[in-house]
Amino acid sequence: EGFDDMMLHKNIMQDVRYHDYEKPTPIQSQAVPIAFSGRDILGIAETGSGKTASFSIPLIQHCLAQPPLRRGDGPIGLVLAPTRELAQQIEKEVKAFSRSSKTVKTAIVVGGTNMSEQRSDLRGGVEIIVATPGRLIDHLEQGNTRLGKISFVVLDEADRMLDMGFEPQIREVMRSLHKSHQTLLFSATMPEEIEALADDYLNKPVRVKV
Ligand code: AMP
Repeated sequence: EGFDDMMLHKNIMQDVRYHDYEKPTPIQSQAVPIAFSGRDILGIAETGSGKTASFSIPLIQHCLAQPPLRRGDGPIGLVLAPTRELAQQIEKEVKAFSRSSKTVKTAIVVGGTNMSEQRSDLRGGVEIIVATPGRLIDHLEQGNTRLGKISFVVLDEADRMLDMGFEPQIREVMRSLHKSHQTLLFSATMPEEIEALADDYLNKPVRVKV
């Protein structure tokens, strides 16, 4: 099975070709079709497995299937990651797979960098936010964005986010989402705290392990 068999949107297919990825990695072969079916995913995968593309492609495909944003609308897709560096890598990958999709704009929202630049990105309207939890909450508190339109969420390296003490922020974000959304949770390990988080916020997830 190759990328050609995955029913990718033609824009995404074009961006995949540009990457010269010969074939999907195991996590991509498993997670992409499940995500396309609308199911939640509990994914056990480490960095290096190709997990970033395994959620970025469904995230972008989801955005392409939504009606265009109207002025003042908040984003459709949200990715939470533990660190600025990881968020930057994810943003790069999301942008790489949405190069051909002019209607999918992405903003990065991380700590340790200029708040006002991020504010103007957010206020300009974006389909996707890639964020670290603390900084996202700061922007929400300042009214720079809102989560009412979010219908696709990715929690990446969830175990590391918990290790870093982000559980309250993650829960605050998940609680404030609209009832109907799809969630993909990725973690390298599956301690009890992750199982509990999955129990609370995932809807009959399909477990994927590579
Ligand atoms: P990740 O696990 O998402 O951090 O990805 C690890 C590395 O694998 C990154 O440099 C990706 O660009 C690369 N990669 C992801 N998917 C594929 C693929 N299907 N074929 C070849 N390389 C890939």
